[in-house]
Amino acid sequence: MLAEKLEEPWTEFLGHIEKQISAAEYQNWFAPITVVSCSQHELVLEVPNIFVREYILDNYKRELALFVPIDESGAPAIDFKVGEKRASQQKLDLPMEIHEEPVSDFTNHSLQLSRFYTFENFIEGASNQFVKSAALGVAARPGKSYNPLFIHGGVGLGKTHLLHGIAHHVLATNRKVRIQCITTESFINDLVDNLRKKSIDKMKRFYRSLDILLVDDIQFLQSRLNFEEEFCNMFEALINQNKQVVITSDKPPSQLKLSERLIARMEWGLVANIGVPDLETRVAILQHKAELKGIRIPQNIAFFIAEHVFNNVRQLEGAINRLNAYCTMMGLDITEDVVEKILSEMFQYVPKRKITVESIMRSVSSMFNVRVSDLRGSSRTKEIAFPRQVAMYLAKELINESLIKLASSFGGKTHSTLLHSWNKIKNQIEKDETLRRQIHMTKQNLEN
Ligand code: ADP
Ligand code: MG
Repeated sequence: MLAEKLEEPWTEFLGHIEKQISAAEYQNWFAPITVVSCSQHELVLEVPNIFVREYILDNYKRELALFVPIDESGAPAIDFKVGEKRASQQKLDLPMEIHEEPVSDFTNHSLQLSRFYTFENFIEGASNQFVKSAALGVAARPGKSYNPLFIHGGVGLGKTHLLHGIAHHVLATNRKVRIQCITTESFINDLVDNLRKKSIDKMKRFYRSLDILLVDDIQFLQSRLNFEEEFCNMFEALINQNKQVVITSDKPPSQLKLSERLIARMEWGLVANIGVPDLETRVAILQHKAELKGIRIPQNIAFFIAEHVFNNVRQLEGAINRLNAYCTMMGLDITEDVVEKILSEMFQYVPKRKITVESIMRSVSSMFNVRVSDLRGSSRTKEIAFPRQVAMYLAKELINESLIKLASSFGGKTHSTLLHSWNKIKNQIEKDETLRRQIHMTKQNLEN
């Protein structure tokens, strides 16, 4: 009973926040937090590392104040304790041992880093701010902050870029650091090669002598049992010596089909998600990439492209390259018409999906951060009723079905409710630029 009471304000806050953020974000930031104590004056939380504290305070201060005790200034009165168990596992105080051997003796020269993938060239936005500062933290103090740092996120969102960013930064400060940056595939190839040449001990010695190991795309280790074990041993050896390990993956550790032992090891340090950048960040990335290539793109065009290409930064770059080649070749100015043509060419091979009420609800739910079940439900709170009206508007616009049938797919609403929603959103779109963009993107999401 006591325990329940203790956690009440925090549990209520979690219930509130869970509806607003993605499951991955929730798992990343909120799930690992535990309540140590709670009085009328103060809530004491245990967090796995200081980054979690910063993230929570940076993003949720206002909302926290609605649930937890507050101080005289109205700010949430929370004392964050960094988890002792994890902190000791990370051996935070031990200095990193640097091998004083000449660089030529070592393979830093064979590091294949893209020279563009630096922190300076990495544009920050809400979706990647945290992971970028974690990467910077690791690069500035290898082995002393989060170990390992595990970065996960979808294709083309900048994981490799950050990994190389760490390597560049570390090498710029200390050329003598023994650093290896490899893809999981080349690690496996190396292993096979060395097994064949009977030089596996040499390889082991090499990896175990590193100060920093950066491993890209660990998902490729799945279903490679023999290699997994070898990797796990090497990984443990490094972590135990307080050597920095950074891993990237397309999924969080818990979703990888790897041994429990390896998953647990990967979860030891900091697991950080890299998300899809919002519109403004995409525009900033696009302008930055264009600048690097010496291309000038008018702001309205940059917005136009970023609105159409939204879930993969690599595709944004592809769009610029294509646009630039086309306009140079044809001697054309970059205009909206040209962009539209190029973009439709770029995406013409993507088969159009059949649009259903179900798919509209899914798209609306991710755009507006509500659950599909809420869209079908009867809650009238604005946060839910509004996205529901948007979904109804889109259903009428995009699906050739009777209003009665469409309305009934929204948990048995009437056709007049649907018509009312359609009218309301239709009028609002005329006046509301943000809504227009949101609806445009929701539609794009459906059609691609
Ligand atoms: P991933 O490894 O996650 O698949 P990459 O790191 O290869 O993605 O990134 C794909 C492309 O997008 C690269 O050219 C990278 O420079 C660029 N990119 C991704 N995110 C950003 C960002 N925030 N700022 C600048 N460029 C970015
Ligand atoms: Mg990559």
